[in-house]
Amino acid sequence: MNKMSFKDSVITAKQFSAVDMTTGKTIWFSRLRSPQHLYPLTEKDYCEAIKYAVQHGIDQMPILSVSTKDFPYCDFDCKDCLACPSRRWAIEDQHIKYPIIPIDKYKKILREISAYSSRRGFNKVRFEVCGEGNPDLYKHRIEMLEYANQECNMGLVYVSTGSHISDELLECLVNNVAFIRISFPGIGTDAYKTYSNQKSKNKDFSYDDAIHLLDKLCNARAKAGREDTLLIGTRTCIRPLNAGHYDEFIHTIANIGVDVFQGVKVLIPNFESVKNENISQKEVEELINLRELAYSYGLKDFQLPNNLNTVYKNRAMVERDKPTRCWSSLISPPLYGTNLMCCVLWDRITDFNYHYGIMEGEENELESLMHGESAKFIMKNCPRNCTECPSLKDNGFMESLWRVLKFQENLDNVKFITHY
Ligand code: SF4
Ligand code: SF4
Repeated sequence: MNKMSFKDSVITAKQFSAVDMTTGKTIWFSRLRSPQHLYPLTEKDYCEAIKYAVQHGIDQMPILSVSTKDFPYCDFDCKDCLACPSRRWAIEDQHIKYPIIPIDKYKKILREISAYSSRRGFNKVRFEVCGEGNPDLYKHRIEMLEYANQECNMGLVYVSTGSHISDELLECLVNNVAFIRISFPGIGTDAYKTYSNQKSKNKDFSYDDAIHLLDKLCNARAKAGREDTLLIGTRTCIRPLNAGHYDEFIHTIANIGVDVFQGVKVLIPNFESVKNENISQKEVEELINLRELAYSYGLKDFQLPNNLNTVYKNRAMVERDKPTRCWSSLISPPLYGTNLMCCVLWDRITDFNYHYGIMEGEENELESLMHGESAKFIMKNCPRNCTECPSLKDNGFMESLWRVLKFQENLDNVKFITHY
């Protein structure tokens, strides 16, 4: 039998369980699967981190994942761009000292993050370059990615429209990154043009250009011999003008060799104002049909939101949803410029109370940032004072495991098993 590739082993896993090896009993299991959300990490890494927290203290957990907002300028002007309010706060109001991180400082920060986790036994921090702008435009991107991968052993995720991926950057991505996700503001020529709302003086980046880019990426991946490890995916918001174009899109990208698709809902800070905007029944049916068809076309993962009816997502959190602590702020704090913070929510980004502090790139500085006064404030107030949450599922998943593991007599006998 052929050995399963790393990529397939992560993408096709169905369930995780914690087993007490002395009795053979399953003490906890989870069917929650979001492989694209975690890749190249898996739920198992999160389970091990929770076990570490039970053994060594919650505030001693390694950082597993960081998403970085290091370039807050964009050549697109998308409808409902979620980055706009925080960008204004960060740049125009000058609240963030380094909205673009100088490369020498950046390298030191990357090294410090990986060293902090490595001291806690975790050696492959997921580092996601995304959001707030077009990451292709950061002029030291190649140097930054090569350093993060080759010197810090990070599992890199790169999220972009790809409108400014040069041949050199493409080469670097294919050789250093674990997951490349190309975002489509719309599906189909007109939807792409309308929703991306580009205002450049030069020729706009088109839907066809984005498809061509995916083709180039998949060919370069084959040439680099990385088909077993480099995941290539696409992401779009489910919107009315996409209707009627999904089937052809999924067929096309699967033929090219793209692995995964993620459809998400549009997010804006004020859900109440848009709660009645609905997706047509025809579009919903098209997407539901693709839930099966996408795999027959050749995709490895096709992910949609649960409730397809509304255009916008409501992430309001009621009291009963709240886990007893915000795990994600401990193990996946985002970086905005050089500010390390508890989560990507707009009102958390713009409130310094919810920042761990500013990273300078000094050796061991995370030991004090992750255990200082701000960290204590975050731990005390989140999720208690949170009214909406982007990490609801992650927090619930980790909380449920924590509650089981803390009553185990001997954690050395607990092993986490992946089921296919
Ligand atoms: S590509 Fe992303 S950052 Fe740029 S305008 Fe669109 S949503 Fe905003
Ligand atoms: S909204 Fe609150 S609970 Fe959710 S991730 Fe952010 S800080 Fe944590």
